Amino acid sequence: MKLLEDKILECGKVLPGHVLKVDGFLNHQIDVKLLKAMAEEFYSEFSNADVNKILTIEASGIAIATLVADKFNCPLVFAKKNKTSNVADDVYAVPVHSYTHNRDFNVIVSKKYLNKEDVVLIIDDFLANGCALKGLVDLVNQAGASVAGCGIAIEKGFQDGGKTLRDSGYKICSLAIVENMTDHSLTFRKQ
Ligand code: 5GP
Repeated sequence: MKLLEDKILECGKVLPGHVLKVDGFLNHQIDVKLLKAMAEEFYSEFSNADVNKILTIEASGIAIATLVADKFNCPLVFAKKNKTSNVADDVYAVPVHSYTHNRDFNVIVSKKYLNKEDVVLIIDDFLANGCALKGLVDLVNQAGASVAGCGIAIEKGFQDGGKTLRDSGYKICSLAIVENMTDHSLTFRKQ
């Protein structure tokens, strides 16, 4: 998506550890107009899939996922990162390694908000090694619901999460795929 790629080139900053900082429009200050345009793209990609629920993970996925849920006219559920390993009976839970915090969280969703009739579109801001996305897919499977696909704002194509999930048969729609990044240059995969 050209608009998003241009914004990344304008505002993105490469940090050590292959982290792309996009605080200026996605992860701290939010460019609502841009996120609305991104939600439109996800809607046109998945509008034939009978999606009736959007799922993301707190915190950075929530803004974009809210706008996507508005397009699909359905609820958004965000999985919570639990700092303790105590898990109650009334939640689905999965351990997920956080790329940016370099620690494990127990990620939970209340059983009230995911059920077997749900057709779920998973939304997140970044896809790197795929731990967050695989955890969310796992929660959907625990509920007996089905995954319509995954919509990602920025995929880092030099890390293998996207390939692994696509090879497993999931439809992954990434609006920008960073092929390479250094302190001085950033290139995108042609899509
Ligand atoms: P994965 O689980 O695919 O390794 O990483 C995805 C998760 O880590 C996303 O939910 C996102 O919050 C965070 N993340 C991974 N890489 C980056 C990055 O380069 N920049 C930012 N801002 N977040 C990232």
